[in-house]
Amino acid sequence: MDAFTLVVAAALASTIMAGSMVLLYLASSRQVCLLDWTLAGAFFAASNIIAAVSMHGGIAHPLVPGLGNTLHLAGQFGMLAGVRRHLRLKAGWGAFAVLAALVLAAHTLTFIQASVLHRMTLMGPLITAINLGTAWLLWHRSDGAGRVAYVPLIVLELLSALQMAVRNGLVIFYDGQLPGGLGGQFLQTSGALSMLVFLSFGAMSCALIVAQQQTLALRRASLTDALTGWLNRRALHDIATREFRRCRRTGAPVHFITFDVDHFKAINDRHGHGVGDAAICHITTLSAGVLRGYDALFRIGGEEFAVLLAGAAPDAVRGIAERLRELVAHAPLVADGHVVPMTISVGVAALASSDQKWEDILRRADEALYHAKQHGRNRVSVHGRDVPERGQVLRLQVVGA
Ligand code: GH3
Ligand code: MG
Ligand code: MG
Repeated sequence: MDAFTLVVAAALASTIMAGSMVLLYLASSRQVCLLDWTLAGAFFAASNIIAAVSMHGGIAHPLVPGLGNTLHLAGQFGMLAGVRRHLRLKAGWGAFAVLAALVLAAHTLTFIQASVLHRMTLMGPLITAINLGTAWLLWHRSDGAGRVAYVPLIVLELLSALQMAVRNGLVIFYDGQLPGGLGGQFLQTSGALSMLVFLSFGAMSCALIVAQQQTLALRRASLTDALTGWLNRRALHDIATREFRRCRRTGAPVHFITFDVDHFKAINDRHGHGVGDAAICHITTLSAGVLRGYDALFRIGGEEFAVLLAGAAPDAVRGIAERLRELVAHAPLVADGHVVPMTISVGVAALASSDQKWEDILRRADEALYHAKQHGRNRVSVHGRDVPERGQVLRLQVVGA
């Protein structure tokens, strides 16, 4: 395939990229990075159209190569801007506009207009820097789960930087006079071919990043309680299953603390549902202050919570439960000018050798919680200490639970 055909194909691929990015923007949750990538596609298309027209000898103005190069640079920057926006950084189009003006101005110099070597020496480092910057940013800012979706674009940006470095190196090495098969036709064909590959896979890589982000957001939402932002029952199942297996294998202790607000119905009745909601959030905020960083707090019912503690000694767990109870009792919610005193009843249970599943520990913690409710509320009951170990204590429902 000759260079002209490849450039036309690259122009088509850029247009398709711009179109698919804008369609994805409309069809998805309007992620603005898709608009940056739409712009990137549009700039690449314009740069390739200019290249195709000038190859046919359509425009002979000395600034045409400068315009084509600046538009190509804008396309490369659009990719970076989308990545920056995706990573919640400023896209930086303003700073790029200054750079683009300087690049265009440089093309008015006779020195730059004089040879491809000079133009490539100007553009090569800029494009390579943008490519490497994009790849580095994606790698540096991603974590385990998100990185998989970034790999295709990282590879693509690295390949783009590599081919630019090789082509630049050749031009500089031969001082702009590439021999035989590596002549001007080679430069044009290899440039157009790499552009075509970059655009074809670039659009897919960007779509993959957006799709992965939406999947992660949905997963996060499905594991999070809408009112408090803490983990919900579904998350409890996933995390407790994993921790139960791990601690069974390693012999590390596992505990559950469960707690329920005392006489919560009265709070709702007296102050209204809104204050009730605020009270639930208040309790979770207080709990976060008492728990260790790696303890997981779950909202498992209306005003019923569970804490999973892996690796903590029994005394430490009882200490945490007692501190939690005290803190809630001494830090009333202040809402709408009302002071709303609250107390909680707390149950604690540990992993036993006979346990087959994590639900066995939670059931005993619930029995201890029920015991605390039965024995005056605003207290901590520990299974095995306050509640005798026995086969099956019916889990009488924690009032209304
Ligand atoms: P006890 O001391 O025995 O626990 O008494 P209680 O009144 O707290 O009884 P229970 O634990 O059964 O109370 C649950 C109440 O919590 C019933 C329901 O109206 C209320 N509730 C459940 N979910 C929410 C919620 O999201 N927001 C608010 N405001 N109230 C809720
Ligand atoms: Mg209650
Ligand atoms: Mg309850």
